[in-house]
Amino acid sequence: MDYDVKKNLHEVLADLKEGVRLVAISKYHPTEYVMAAYEEGQRIFGESHEQEIRQKHEALPKDIEWHFIGHLQTNKVKYIAPYISMVEAVDSLKLLREIDKQAARCNRVIKVLLELHLAEEATKYGLTLDDCRQLLADGAWRELKHVRMCGLMMMASNTDDEAQIAREFQTAADFFDEVKARYFADDPDFCERSWGMSDDYRIAQQHRSTMVRIGTRIFGPRIY
Ligand SMILES: *Cc1c(COP(=O)(O)O)cnc(C)c1O
Repeated sequence: MDYDVKKNLHEVLADLKEGVRLVAISKYHPTEYVMAAYEEGQRIFGESHEQEIRQKHEALPKDIEWHFIGHLQTNKVKYIAPYISMVEAVDSLKLLREIDKQAARCNRVIKVLLELHLAEEATKYGLTLDDCRQLLADGAWRELKHVRMCGLMMMASNTDDEAQIAREFQTAADFFDEVKARYFADDPDFCERSWGMSDDYRIAQQHRSTMVRIGTRIFGPRIY
């Protein structure tokens, strides 16, 4: 193993504030790397491609909680529905409905986060704040009994400007409070704020992140 996964994992865990959970992002890394982290007690892993997550799910211990963190096409939902724990990047009502439908077929409830688009890059997926307000105001999501709305997810801009990154996390944190108060005040499940990656998780924690998604810092650079 080129990277000292166990050492890196413990360094990251030591950096996390109380109450912040780690989603170890294992995309493009071999199952041995996942196992190294698993042996140290890590149980939540994130992947962004359907085939890769399926292979890892099949090969690895079944008490791993898999999070799908990438852009999910509706036609792929049926493949992950039997085992996925959380879909972190829901960015349309259409996708939410499909997750609900496939979860129902599997007799499951799948946890979801709504993905916000706040970064300046045009390529990133996610809902603008207004799209997200619209989706929630529309109310159709309330009928979906096989998805559990657990909070929000976002990626900050890929920039060295830490003030900008901090502003984006703060915007997400404020928006969380807005929708929590308006739609989820009585719903303890809606409590997650998934922000922070290898280069910005320390900043994210200053802005009330509850889950950080960290890959490179633990497993090393990805070879695509
Ligand atoms: C790849 C990825 C991460 C992890 O990024 P690192 O910089 O390697 O920590 C986090 N979140 C999402 C959505 C990703 O696609």
